[in-house]
Amino acid sequence: MSEEFSGYKGEALKAIKKAEAEIGDIIRITNNSEAYEGILIPRSEYGDERHIILKLKSGYNIGVRITSSTKIEKIGKGAKPTFKPPPLVKQIAELPKVAIISTGGTIASRVDYRTGAVRPALTASDLYSVVPELATIAQIDAQILFSLFSENITPKHWTQIAEFVAKQITDDVEGVVIAHGTDTLGYTAAALSFALQNLPVPVILVGSQRSADRPSSDAATNLIGAVTAAAKAPFAEVALAMHETPSDTAIAIHRGTKVRKCHTSRRDTFKSINTTPIARIQDQKITMLTEDYKKRDSKRKLALKPAFDEKVALIKFYPGMNPTIINWHIENGYKGIILEGTGLGHVSKYCFDAIKNAVNSNIIVAMTSQCIWGRINMNVYDSGRDLLALGVIPLEDILPETATVKLMWIFGQTNDIAEVKKLLKTNIASEFSQRTFSEET
Ligand code: GLU
Repeated sequence: MSEEFSGYKGEALKAIKKAEAEIGDIIRITNNSEAYEGILIPRSEYGDERHIILKLKSGYNIGVRITSSTKIEKIGKGAKPTFKPPPLVKQIAELPKVAIISTGGTIASRVDYRTGAVRPALTASDLYSVVPELATIAQIDAQILFSLFSENITPKHWTQIAEFVAKQITDDVEGVVIAHGTDTLGYTAAALSFALQNLPVPVILVGSQRSADRPSSDAATNLIGAVTAAAKAPFAEVALAMHETPSDTAIAIHRGTKVRKCHTSRRDTFKSINTTPIARIQDQKITMLTEDYKKRDSKRKLALKPAFDEKVALIKFYPGMNPTIINWHIENGYKGIILEGTGLGHVSKYCFDAIKNAVNSNIIVAMTSQCIWGRINMNVYDSGRDLLALGVIPLEDILPETATVKLMWIFGQTNDIAEVKKLLKTNIASEFSQRTFSEET
């Protein structure tokens, strides 16, 4: 479907075309004695075929049903959105070079307030128009890889992002920033932590909870934090830069394998789980919060391992869960199951037969906790000991989603079961904490 008619099909599209109208035009719809005037705006492509959506003068949107007697007239041509490019920002040659890769999400979106449509787009000049301060921190080269909301990112995209990042890491790039929707940002951060090993420079993921053209947007401060870290941080790891608190004062840098989106709308939505953030950025000054990090070294040779195998499932246990869910995965060729068990790492006894089946079929079954904080311990209660005896692998304090991404990555590297088990228990990208943070407090 062409952009001009985004979302419309069937009867509604026919009526719009007949009136020679486009999205953004002002139209009048007359249905018997009722008439409505407003701007024709895009709609969901999964809606029905009989409604046209108008933005009224009052700002409200209404859906008008098209019948055989409906009349549509175009009464005004919508002013096409104009984009006045910002004055060209002079790149300062002495500054470090940073590559910014955009994959979509709110941080890369602009709202067209005329129609209400959100468009994912982030070019270098868009960036400078929104955040001119970036030019005083680094020489920026911004490229669009995808324009996707992050719920539509899959392991195949992780592979493409990893390969694209590897191409950016040339001799003179001091760091890479990846703009990404926040919903699955933690998963991509974990995926890149396994796929990009032996990094010479930092790779910083960044998102925003509110788009750049809203007054309360966190996009600019998060981007400034991310570019600062990419340009100057002493570490060379995959990390995520977002607000530390609801106010604009500091940006927290979280390790890619230990971070989770914890709030639907707050700007400080991301938290490091079972560990502290690795750094804080305030007024473009970086303070390391741990001494345990891989140091930046431009001579280090990146080891790119971008393959993921999607035949891995994350199964959350809940009271009453039907164990045939586990059997379904066995029958459908899955190679690994990460269980998100209760408390210290349990599932009910009525799942034991299905788990035994999975293990006997050479499927890796490993345990994480749905508690979020703390470390599993399957030696405390009978259920835990029974699960260990069945061959379930305990995974310490790893996040369930990181464990899932890790097992997908492992099966991307090898199908040798002994090697898979060994890698699953090896701390590859700081996915296990040495000590559980919450036990100290
Ligand atoms: N759900 C979208 C995404 O994750 C928008 C939310 C956001 O970017 O924070 O890409």
